[in-house]
Amino acid sequence: MKDQSDKQEIKDFKVLAQFTAVYCRAHHQGAKRPLQPSEVDVEGLNLEPHSLCEKCREFLAYAIERRQRCPLDPKPSCKHCEIHCYRPGHREQVREIMRFSGSRLMLRGRLDLLWHYFS
Ligand SMILES: [Zn+2]
Repeated sequence: MKDQSDKQEIKDFKVLAQFTAVYCRAHHQGAKRPLQPSEVDVEGLNLEPHSLCEKCREFLAYAIERRQRCPLDPKPSCKHCEIHCYRPGHREQVREIMRFSGSRLMLRGRLDLLWHYFS
């Protein structure tokens, strides 16, 4: 069961990375590079295809770290969670990136699911 959810999690991280990269490409200039495996402690997660600026790397690393550290299993929607571990503004950032990149990538079907995981 745990294996299953780990795989799902990696998929979700990749989609979030893709979304963030699409958003970053359209909004941010400057030097970009993908997050390295040493920066996100998730086995089997390769973010090499997704180049990000420094801010977006930080955002993505933070989102992944929070998601991984969630002590609740299954994870509830953060809105209904009593821990509220996200820093202020993070949910808004997730929402903005998903709205922008979701409409670009035509991945609407996945959005509700991802929103549940990352907000
Ligand atoms: Zn960026």
